[in-house]
Amino acid sequence: MTVQNNNDTIQETIHVIGGGLAGSEAAWQIANAGVHVVLHEMRPVRTTDAHRTDSLAELVCSNSFRSDDAANNAVGLLHAELRRLNSLIMRSADANQVPAGGALAVDRDGFSAAVSAALAAHPKIEIQREEIAGLPPADWQNVVIATGPLTSPALADAIRQLSGEDALAFFDAIAPIVHRDSINMDVAWFQSRYDKVGPGGNGADYLNCPMTREQYEAFVDALLAGEKTDFKEWETNTPYFDGCLPIEVMASRGRETLRHGPMKPVGLTNPRDPTVKPYAIVQLRQDNKLGTLYNIVGFQTKLKYGAQTDVLRMIPGLEKAEFARLGGLHRNTFLNSPKLLDPQLRLKAQPRLRFAGQMTGCEGYVESAGIGLLAGLFAAADAKQSSITPPPPTTALGALLGHITGGHIETIDAGPRSFQPMNINFGLFPPLASPPTKKPDGSRLRGNEKTVAKKQAISARALSDIDRWIADRLRTANAA
Ligand SMILES: Cc1cc2nc3c(=O)[nH]c(=O)nc-3n(C[C@H](O)[C@H](O)[C@H](O)COP(=O)(O)OP(=O)(O)OC[C@H]3O[C@@H](n4cnc5c(N)ncnc54)[C@H](O)[C@@H]3O)c2cc1C
Repeated sequence: MTVQNNNDTIQETIHVIGGGLAGSEAAWQIANAGVHVVLHEMRPVRTTDAHRTDSLAELVCSNSFRSDDAANNAVGLLHAELRRLNSLIMRSADANQVPAGGALAVDRDGFSAAVSAALAAHPKIEIQREEIAGLPPADWQNVVIATGPLTSPALADAIRQLSGEDALAFFDAIAPIVHRDSINMDVAWFQSRYDKVGPGGNGADYLNCPMTREQYEAFVDALLAGEKTDFKEWETNTPYFDGCLPIEVMASRGRETLRHGPMKPVGLTNPRDPTVKPYAIVQLRQDNKLGTLYNIVGFQTKLKYGAQTDVLRMIPGLEKAEFARLGGLHRNTFLNSPKLLDPQLRLKAQPRLRFAGQMTGCEGYVESAGIGLLAGLFAAADAKQSSITPPPPTTALGALLGHITGGHIETIDAGPRSFQPMNINFGLFPPLASPPTKKPDGSRLRGNEKTVAKKQAISARALSDIDRWIADRLRTANAA
């Protein structure tokens, strides 16, 4: 379908499938760019196992948008960037805030009602309550698919066939991810097993954390005692990925199981004491191109977050570990985006289809809205036959987009690795050219002060770069 706009140019209608966090934001941005949009939401005609209402942008679980501290926290920074871009999700969250300390938490019903009302009232938006139960019709030439982690099976199946991937819905095997600069390098050392160089490594690609027998025994005890999360009833039918048993399940099968699995101490020599063979070794592997994040190899776990942090900090070298993401297992639907999507979130195999939200491999309400916002801007630019450069990688939006479309490393030493969804965190940002070393009064920064100052400098750089990007876009639009 095409519609005539004010300038008498012919524009196509953009179809957004899924009225969740990402789809609602995408529709809002498209409509505000002056392009007609049809938002297709299947609820209440068909619902998911987690949604409870027919409101747009329903929050399926927590009512928190996490930290609102733009200076010190990456998700707070993302809030700030989204507000500068007239985000409907942020506007509705701010208007429905409930007290939650430094976090932005919302009255969930008020929030969803505000999003629904704004979309319904917009003259450029048409809302249709229907399931898109297969690939969108061929004459929909500009489509944003934002159907989320619980995409209906018929659509998920069609996308899976089109993408050529084996699976689209499965349990994420999420291993915890650690900030590299929080690892104690007086204990850990770099070495690949048997110094194997492999196709993409240099023989010293892994960080190794050694354990004595006593440390190993205490670690296994803590794993077995730690509090675990339960599967939800509807999760029980989804299979595990091969070879991704939680570590606590492995430990429960025998005290030596981990030592013969992810913690095997073979092919590695501790350079600090080559004569003493560690009883077990935990390995960490680089997780992003920047080398700022490392995942703990084979450590997927269903331990509750509090217990998990305590247990993982028992690992020598990780006593002060800061986690970019904790481990977990839950059902999810997402694309192998770095392989399948182009830098503007279009499916390479069929560029009329653009993806947004959790399906692309971001994780979280705010991140999903952020990628929805970008997908909306990109789709509107296509409809107006104009172009838009993505936000710089130094911004939270650019860093998230980079993780989805380019920041993942496909192979390292031991072979291919699967792409996993991720929350926004400072490890996704390019390092500072010159990290701060001194306080404003000229005295040296020490210990944690350095980390805090670094985060603040990354945030300040991001906000200045997003402002410049917005100003450049306005200049280009005014010149056109
Ligand atoms: C059980 C669960 C709990 C979660 N808890 C949290 C949490 O506490 N905090 C957090 O930050 N993140 C959480 N997440 C992760 C994630 O951030 C949210 O799921 C978020 O809502 C994702 O946004 P989205 O827009 O991509 O998908 P959604 O918000 O799920 O929106 C997708 C929409 O598409 C619709 N849809 C699906 N298929 C079709 C179709 N074929 N045709 C038309 N419409 C369709 C759905 O009805 C839904 O409205 C959770 C995820 C799950 C699965």
